[in-house]
Amino acid sequence: MTEDLLARHRAVLPTWMPLYYGDEPLEIVSGSGRRVVDAAGRSYLDFFGGVLTNMIGYDIPEISAAVSEQLATGVVHTSTLYLIRRQVELAEKIARVSGIPDARVFFTNSGTEANETALLMATNIRRSNQILAVRNSYHGRTFATMAITGHRGWSASSLSPLQVSWLPSGDRVRGRMRGLSDADHIEVAVDELREVLATVTAGDVAALIAEPIQGVGGFVHAPDGLLGAYKKELDEHGILLIADEVQTGWGRTGDHFWGYQAHGVTPDLITFAKGIGNGFALGGVVGRADVMNAVPAISFSTYGGNPVSTAAGTAVLDYLLDHDLQANARRVGAILLDGLRTALASCAVVAEVRGRGLMIGIEFVRPGGNEPAPATAVAVFEECRRSGLLVGKGGLYNNVLRMGPPLTLTEEEAREGLAILVEAIRTADAAAVR
Ligand code: PMP
Repeated sequence: MTEDLLARHRAVLPTWMPLYYGDEPLEIVSGSGRRVVDAAGRSYLDFFGGVLTNMIGYDIPEISAAVSEQLATGVVHTSTLYLIRRQVELAEKIARVSGIPDARVFFTNSGTEANETALLMATNIRRSNQILAVRNSYHGRTFATMAITGHRGWSASSLSPLQVSWLPSGDRVRGRMRGLSDADHIEVAVDELREVLATVTAGDVAALIAEPIQGVGGFVHAPDGLLGAYKKELDEHGILLIADEVQTGWGRTGDHFWGYQAHGVTPDLITFAKGIGNGFALGGVVGRADVMNAVPAISFSTYGGNPVSTAAGTAVLDYLLDHDLQANARRVGAILLDGLRTALASCAVVAEVRGRGLMIGIEFVRPGGNEPAPATAVAVFEECRRSGLLVGKGGLYNNVLRMGPPLTLTEEEAREGLAILVEAIRTADAAAVR
């Protein structure tokens, strides 16, 4: 059945669409809690949540009820040209939790559109097409967002009219930040920012956009405080800071509700998507009123902020606040992170176990050095699937395993997944050093 679907997929969808698990792709047909079931009836513990999208989990009664209530009115959506009560209510809640005083919210259908919108605002208010971005970033799949994506494998076009200058990523396994203390890392990065501003830009840069933890880039993150140190420099030039919180928002990082809070800074604009919809298409920008209001002509999204997706978003936000899922992410994430670090300390193929909360990456290298080992990552990734655990892959060299389970993950489930991961990685380690 799934084989037939794969053949039909290949015959009708473009060749460049990525599919996990090669010739044995996964077709998920149902889910409950943190588990999904495939077309062959196999059950999996889900440590990837559809790329950190299923933030609450599957089949959550509160979310289904909110969506069903809207569907029961007979209106899926009419138009954002009319007042939408659910949109206003969700905007009020997001403005309140954003950390930005007097914030405004604009809803989109995806993270890409959210970033595109943030770029529109920043470039308009600053009357500049110059953007600072971070190497190894991912921000979307439109012309503009691909231009600020610092990852060759995900940047299929360079045709955007934006002028982009690059700042170093937080990679400490290799590259210039290797072996540096946090303080030195920040100093080198701020020096780089100063140099970029003094040399390759025309002095009127619109914004810096950064993911507090790089998602697609393999959960690489700079030391806490770096964005705050950058902001001091940016403020001298009036340059805006955009935090792309598409993966890091809503308490996922455990210690903080937003990733930016680890940096002692408040961004001018925050972009969000993925988890807030828990599967429904919902994204947006929340930001300073003066920046958000500065778009000179009417801008509109047919489906952005529709009643069904905002009903889902409201139920998700209420659920995660009512159940303090941020605290759960901190507690259960620590079990996973500490457990992995301890169990894998002697594995020669593991260069780094990193992340925070329920956003954890494991980077694989060839034993004895720091040469990326994508084949080891694939072997572990596939073995996990065979053992009933779904995880993600990523990183600049495709050598990082990514875990971003629903924030409702229980301690027992964390330990179950941990055991599978450790077994798979130790087996791969033994094979690599043999
Ligand atoms: N920003 C980040 C940090 C992301 O991880 C992604 C998606 N992987 C996007 C933006 C784009 O979001 P979408 O796929 O919803 O357009």
